[in-house]
Amino acid sequence: MILRDETVQTGVRRRTAVLGTGEVAWDAAVVGADDLGLGRGDGCFETLRVLGGTPPRLLHLAAHLDRFERSARALDLPRPDRDAWTALAEEVCTELADGQEAALRLLLTRGTPGGGPTGLATLRPVAAEIVTQRATGVDVVTLDRGTALAAHAAAPWLLGGAKTLSYAVNTAALREAARRGAQDVLFTTPAGEVLEGPTATALWLADSELRTVPPGATGILAGTTQRAVFAGAQAAGHPTAERTATVADLQGADALWLVSSVRGAVEVATLDGRVLPRRPEVTASVRSWLEG
Ligand code: PLP
Repeated sequence: MILRDETVQTGVRRRTAVLGTGEVAWDAAVVGADDLGLGRGDGCFETLRVLGGTPPRLLHLAAHLDRFERSARALDLPRPDRDAWTALAEEVCTELADGQEAALRLLLTRGTPGGGPTGLATLRPVAAEIVTQRATGVDVVTLDRGTALAAHAAAPWLLGGAKTLSYAVNTAALREAARRGAQDVLFTTPAGEVLEGPTATALWLADSELRTVPPGATGILAGTTQRAVFAGAQAAGHPTAERTATVADLQGADALWLVSSVRGAVEVATLDGRVLPRRPEVTASVRSWLEG
């Protein structure tokens, strides 16, 4: 019922398309019961924001396809065919009218044993809570992810930087945040160095510099949103930097955001209960760079 309500509120119709088949009913059974994406979380995905229009704009599609390729390579999956995935993505976005926005997801699973990989594109309305959080900001708690800052440096099997389907830990962290009265999370190392959110990159302002955590050895996902923000900031003459930082550093920052493709930039209102300064004019610039 909630799904139908969302569609009625936003006017955005849910849609599903299968690689090699094309569009099917949005709730069709498109994955076999023994698909390894389902049974093992063995696969990768991308989520991006689409703005309606003629034609609809699939924001930062090239950067998402680049990362999709990197994730598939890390998982030893066949390289996604860019043209085929672009066509599949565009197929579910037709109909999205001016002023509408939607979340587009591309999923590639290892498929069934003996069969080939499964590829899917889905379109759905942007969740109401995301729309709310863009306006209100979020309360964030830090949770220890239990790995050292450079844990991924010599351990590619940990799949650092790959956007795999194994998100059970990430969603468990969000439920823990809710139990603690917050809406989101920043993962840390045992030493209190900040890594990333379960579905977002940390971005903060300190010493007039826009900063983020370096990917690579930290194992965090290289965010397409953070990258687009840095490109926009640099073009506008604002300094940017990759820096490691502790929770205390972020509690002392001039502003902190969680950034990701569909939410864009959301201001962090409190971090572990500490009220943070907010810079709405910077938030507005960041959002304009993302839609640029
Ligand atoms: N980090 C994690 C773990 C994520 O899942 C995401 C997005 O879902 C991000 C960062 C932000 O990535 P992007 O800006 O490409 O959406």
